[in-house]
Amino acid sequence: MKIAVIGTGYVGLVTGTCFAESGNQVTCIDIDEHKVQKLKAGEIPIFEPGLEEMVKRNTKARRLLFTTSYDETIPDAKCIFIAVGTPQKEDGSANLDSIWKVAESLAPLLAEDSIVIIKSTVPVGTNRKLAELLQKLTGRIVDVASNPEFLKEGAAIDDFSKPDRVVVGVSRPEIADTLHELYKPFLRTEHPFLSMELESAEMTKYVANCMLATKISFINEMANLCERVGADINQVRRGIGHDQRIGFSFLFPGVGYGGSCFPKDVSALISVAKSHQMEPSILNAVDQVNTAQKRVLFEKVNHYFKGDLQGKTFAIWGLAFKPKTDDIREAPALVLIDQLLQAGAQLKVHDPVAMNNVKDIYGDQLAYFDHHYDTLQGADALVIVTEWNEFRHADFDYILHKLSNPIIFDGRNLYEPDKMKQKGFDYIGIGLSSLK
Ligand code: NAD
Repeated sequence: MKIAVIGTGYVGLVTGTCFAESGNQVTCIDIDEHKVQKLKAGEIPIFEPGLEEMVKRNTKARRLLFTTSYDETIPDAKCIFIAVGTPQKEDGSANLDSIWKVAESLAPLLAEDSIVIIKSTVPVGTNRKLAELLQKLTGRIVDVASNPEFLKEGAAIDDFSKPDRVVVGVSRPEIADTLHELYKPFLRTEHPFLSMELESAEMTKYVANCMLATKISFINEMANLCERVGADINQVRRGIGHDQRIGFSFLFPGVGYGGSCFPKDVSALISVAKSHQMEPSILNAVDQVNTAQKRVLFEKVNHYFKGDLQGKTFAIWGLAFKPKTDDIREAPALVLIDQLLQAGAQLKVHDPVAMNNVKDIYGDQLAYFDHHYDTLQGADALVIVTEWNEFRHADFDYILHKLSNPIIFDGRNLYEPDKMKQKGFDYIGIGLSSLK
């Protein structure tokens, strides 16, 4: 099938590459010329495990092309996936400007039997509005479908190639049949292809992300309470997780969720609810708890040093909003860095892949190190923000030897508190009993 994918960010690039990998002829369009030049040269502008090899393989086989030109691509495309950004506006609602711009570029070029599919996360009603706009611009009915994407950065190829489910919203069954055909290679293990109304598909994406964000804010609030009452969230988590109605996934306490999806999608759904005269109490709380949680590490550091952080040096491990990605959008590390700099501290930072993105923001306000152990020399404490795998088995004797004070603030509870104590550390995690 001939496919066009518009937007070559995390979602568009993975979508286009995985469709090419299953034998389709895919052209990815982006307005960012620099990005397209890089992609044409085989350079991947983002870090996503496994993506580079896959892009190279499919580019070489000429199943995957990159361009800035709608004119050369759209007239031949059967399926056109829109995967442009839908960032948050000041008022919390989703900014759909890029979607409407794409629609205007597409309209004069669409083939009679093409299907325009929104993969970006968009609020309820957007697909119908797109259908109306395309009808107005072309003078005929254009097939539109919603196909929200559930991939996770850091595991995007696996998630796309082996999805738990594929969701499509359609206005007539034939459109679902075409999309089902396209997705069949990824659903061979009998995972479902769910076809529904446009509005239900649009809502599914927001409800999924808001449910996950709710789990995170819930466990973070419980962790904060555990600290105060002398309980240990790690033990409580085990205690609840064996109940199959609750389970273990996504119930790890930490420093709050970040990234380009959860914060903006929670805000967008709050905005949708309000525009329908409903006050979404749970979502409001999820957002408030998360904003507060991003400040928790700083409060712990500040409390430990009795409010005197001027001239202190901190080693920071992990800057990306989660491991295996270079994405720092809404990352808790940025909130911590801002607070520590404001308090007069000096920061020595390391992240396996996100450091360049952080450099773009902070420049020489921070000292950057290619190896996490090199941040430790003379630091007053180590602060762990992102749970990269390589931090899990640390050489504690070396850390003890290098730090000026044996203190670790661990925003991800990577280590066992009792062992850390035995080693001689003051180990301050999230939701661990402070009464011992
Ligand atoms: P991104 O910001 O990484 O990429 C968007 C790309 O679209 C950019 O390269 C930009 O140059 C391009 N673009 C903007 N306007 C364009 C236009 N008119 N024509 C062609 N290209 C244009 O975004 P992303 O993280 O890939 O997210 C895209 C959408 O998918 C968002 O709605 C997001 O909520 C959703 N989503 C993201 C993820 C994720 O993990 N990142 C997961 C699921 C869904």
